[in-house]
Amino acid sequence: MRITHLCYAVTGLGYASPWSVNAGFIAGQERTLIIDTGSNSLSAATIYGYAHAVRPTNRMRVINTERHFDHIGGNHFFAQQGVPIAAHFGVVRTESEFEAEIQEFNDSIANPVRRRLHEANVFFSGTRLKLPDEAISTDCRLELGACTVDVILTPGHTPTNLSIWQETDGVLYCGDCLTNGYTPNLDASSPPDWELWLHSLDRIEQLAPRHMVPGHGPILTDADEVSARIQHHRDIIHQALDRGYSPTSPQALFP
Ligand SMILES: [Zn+2]
Repeated sequence: MRITHLCYAVTGLGYASPWSVNAGFIAGQERTLIIDTGSNSLSAATIYGYAHAVRPTNRMRVINTERHFDHIGGNHFFAQQGVPIAAHFGVVRTESEFEAEIQEFNDSIANPVRRRLHEANVFFSGTRLKLPDEAISTDCRLELGACTVDVILTPGHTPTNLSIWQETDGVLYCGDCLTNGYTPNLDASSPPDWELWLHSLDRIEQLAPRHMVPGHGPILTDADEVSARIQHHRDIIHQALDRGYSPTSPQALFP
């Protein structure tokens, strides 16, 4: 969907239940920045197709918002199209981690026959592990042709999280620094990371975005809605720090 003049979102891409995952792109006059590649090559083909249709002559570039496979799984597809990929320097994954991801996906299939047939292989067909070509270690600005975007490090969910800010249109692509509807995922990090997450929320709040594309869930299209969601995340993280466990850990069932 088109969010603003320059900014687009590709929402609802497939992932393990209950998650769908979002991606997006910002189309400048000369370059299109792809933000995340979905969890597999099929998702990446959809993102690529929309981005190409919007500005067919633009060169593309990918940036991943974090290290988890639902945000980098389509990298190989983009690499096959000759598109360079950048991400935080901590986005370093192994083949065995990727194989474990596919196995975990297969194990979550409810139907035992489909599980035995290992139909996860269909979901991941054509999908290969592809690590970023360029490592990002600090905030930076990218020029897309009559349009700039800022890359802002927003660690917390993982140490590798970053967000993309398009100031003119007031659009923030924040990856899993913020999820909408879904309880934020604190299971992938520890209390020191959660402290950093609070700082990251302060940073994105100061930008006062009018639109936000979260890593998962519906897009936020109103500044008040964005503020409320940021505060919701703060409350959950403070509660987790007080209790010492994440809101979706088994302990949360029997507090
Ligand atoms: Zn995610």
